[in-house]
Amino acid sequence: MSAPHTGLLPRGCEVCSKKEGLLRCSGCQSVWYCGRDHQVADRPIHKTGCVAVKKARAAYEREDAKLRNLPDEGERGWGPDAFEKGAGRFWGIVETRDYMRARHHFVDTVLLFFGGTNGENRVVGRVDAVRLALDHLLDMIRLSRGDNMGIRHIVPGLYLALGRDQEAYDFMKWYATTGASSTYDWGNMGPGFLDVEGADALEAPLEHWLRGRFLQVSHVAAVTLIKVRVLLDLQAIQNSRTALGGTIPTEITDDICGKLVSSIVASRPDILRNDAQQIQGLIQRTKDHIRQLYESIKKSNPHFWELMLDDPDAAGMNRPNMFSPGSKEEACLTIGYSCTSWLATKGAIDVIRGLKETA
Ligand SMILES: [Zn+2]
Ligand SMILES: [Zn+2]
Repeated sequence: MSAPHTGLLPRGCEVCSKKEGLLRCSGCQSVWYCGRDHQVADRPIHKTGCVAVKKARAAYEREDAKLRNLPDEGERGWGPDAFEKGAGRFWGIVETRDYMRARHHFVDTVLLFFGGTNGENRVVGRVDAVRLALDHLLDMIRLSRGDNMGIRHIVPGLYLALGRDQEAYDFMKWYATTGASSTYDWGNMGPGFLDVEGADALEAPLEHWLRGRFLQVSHVAAVTLIKVRVLLDLQAIQNSRTALGGTIPTEITDDICGKLVSSIVASRPDILRNDAQQIQGLIQRTKDHIRQLYESIKKSNPHFWELMLDDPDAAGMNRPNMFSPGSKEEACLTIGYSCTSWLATKGAIDVIRGLKETA
């Protein structure tokens, strides 16, 4: 089955979208052109982002080199092998902090210019840029499990923008189960970190996501989107079944799968074979889950859905440095991390609008 449509721009010339014989911009290493002519033509528009990313990358590479060349101070110091010896507990090692900040700033700059939306609620993020950002962030969490920078809040939205819903779900389920346990030993660098795999995303929302106050809004919003995508697909399957008079012939199964928005549903061919009543049951259950998650976020942060329904891109651009739980600033920051994935899913925000109207 083909991969679900993600809404991000595939690799292609910035000007004409041609996909063959591309050259990468050497400045930002984030965008592609079919040739010199289109690169020159695009320069006035491209320049600001290109220069910002190039600068941020250079600063990150300087810090990287500094860390790899630390003087060997024996037992007490970290020396040149900080990346091996310190992996997992970077934040506890003072020498790594500038490096982590510079790397974070680099990723943030790539996402800001090439990984998100255009300021008017249209997705213009490039697959390559989002993939690069996600790889960096996952590696940063590996280096610093304690994650004082809050990278775990950014990761699910990027997975979802890329259509990698299962990995997003597994990631968040770990934080809601093992990672939420008061006895989890963050100092033990053995196995058992982010090790949930293939969890059932159709299951009822976990207790941790429904407690209203003191919620990780970023994660609960991403779980909501996973379920909304499932719902949209189930409804599409139900509609084609009705249109076809009750059964879906196998010849067109691939055609239907090609249009699915949820990689979770696309990986479950058994769902297509369900009868009308089973599909209806799944739809009802998924709607219940979405409503529970919606209410939980609303209780934790009354601004979140309001801003998401009104103008998510404007809210997301308004990124504060500090916030308190339940505040408008928290809502803006969280929307900034997630609006690309919501806007990339046609019909998703309308599902939430429907909930609000029937509340
Ligand atoms: Zn071109
Ligand atoms: Zn460039």
